[in-house]
Amino acid sequence: MTCDYDVVIIGGGIIGSSLAAHLASEKNEKFKIAVINSTGLGMPASEAAAGLLTPFQLNELENPVRKDFCFKSFEYFPEFFETITSGSSAKHIDLGYRQAGSLYLIFSNSEFSQKENETRNLKTIEPRLSFLSKVEIPKYEPLITRDVIGAYHYPSEAYINNPKFLKAIYLYCIENKVEFLNTTVKKLNISSNIVENIVLDNGQVISAGKFVFCNGVWANNFLKEIFNTDKNIIKAIRGEIICVKALHAMPLRKIIFCSNGYMLPRPATNAFETDSVLIGSTSDEVDLDKIQPPLSNTVSGISSLINLFKTLVPDYKDYLVSGCWAGLRPQTKDNLPVIGKIPEIENLYCSLGHYRNGILTGPFSGKILKDLILENSTEYNIEPFQINRLFETQIRGIPKYASI
Ligand SMILES: Cc1cc2nc3c(=O)[nH]c(=O)nc-3n(C[C@H](O)[C@H](O)[C@H](O)COP(=O)(O)OP(=O)(O)OC[C@H]3O[C@@H](n4cnc5c(N)ncnc54)[C@H](O)[C@@H]3O)c2cc1C
Repeated sequence: MTCDYDVVIIGGGIIGSSLAAHLASEKNEKFKIAVINSTGLGMPASEAAAGLLTPFQLNELENPVRKDFCFKSFEYFPEFFETITSGSSAKHIDLGYRQAGSLYLIFSNSEFSQKENETRNLKTIEPRLSFLSKVEIPKYEPLITRDVIGAYHYPSEAYINNPKFLKAIYLYCIENKVEFLNTTVKKLNISSNIVENIVLDNGQVISAGKFVFCNGVWANNFLKEIFNTDKNIIKAIRGEIICVKALHAMPLRKIIFCSNGYMLPRPATNAFETDSVLIGSTSDEVDLDKIQPPLSNTVSGISSLINLFKTLVPDYKDYLVSGCWAGLRPQTKDNLPVIGKIPEIENLYCSLGHYRNGILTGPFSGKILKDLILENSTEYNIEPFQINRLFETQIRGIPKYASI
């Protein structure tokens, strides 16, 4: 029986589109790939994100597997960026990718001692990591408060204009014959441990050799059905951002972190844009079943971000608020992503739960999953990312369709 597609990817955020780009770059046009992406569910996390590529900011207590995954992703990011830009008409577009470095501001001696411990190990990865005294900071970043005792400087950290990057990946995919369908997948028809086809919003039925869930926080409904559970496997964590633009002030140069949040430049990338600063980000869990798109900002979220900006930038009156938005980070209970095959279903895969780092980890996870889908193996160890770990022992991740 012939299928409509070789691979159908459900969800076209950074995770789904990076996977599509990797598959398309490896295969010729006879290998048919479709990305089915709904635009009616609210702003995808991949557009809402700040675009930070900052693995050094994962704190000391963070799971070492997640840290390793983020650092590997950081190493791989420039290669993927090069593939996308040199291999498509996106090469003519400035995607706001800047290796500008970051400063983590220290306000007290106790914060200094804690951070000093944390940075000790990181110096083996980044020997240029250094502590800047209060008087040195203005040389690197003149805009920020002098009310600090110093700052850690991470020279290799970077950021990207993620909405533009996402568009560039789409462009690369389309120019490499990936089809994008703007609609919602409503149902999976599974029998004898195989996904036979999927049903779209308009009733259309689509068949494929392999299917992949890359649909962020919205994967829960399918996973609950497959695993016969009423528990959400992927939590939805709202994050809010405000955007301010400078009236007369000079642009921010570096990414600025402190214990309460961050701000980063979003530079103008063409004559129609203005240099801006993004301030982020809040964090609160929401019940996806109880909210309607579009996702709103909250009064407390916005006011905490404004206060953060006022603390960090003494000349805050030189700025105008030009926008605010919110998105949903997909989080698992151990903060690790879920990457791999869905057990007991022969042709169903997923890449979910990239939480706060999906812009950073999307390209590398696309490479890993491409290998698994095409070669049935991966160089990178994805054992810790298997979905079974997220279930209570009595469920053991055995799908209800399994003929066992
Ligand atoms: C405020 C905020 C700031 C962040 N900042 C950063 C950052 O600086 N750096 C970083 O690395 N990460 C950051 N993140 C995290 C990052 O954005 C996410 O980890 C990443 O975008 C997740 O990508 P995704 O493709 O899994 O999900 P999404 O981008 O949400 O994409 C999922 C897509 O699937 C579609 N979909 C869902 N269900 C269906 C269906 N049934 N049929 C068809 N389509 C469907 C949705 O419409 C959506 O387009 C941030 C997140 C937020 C919210």
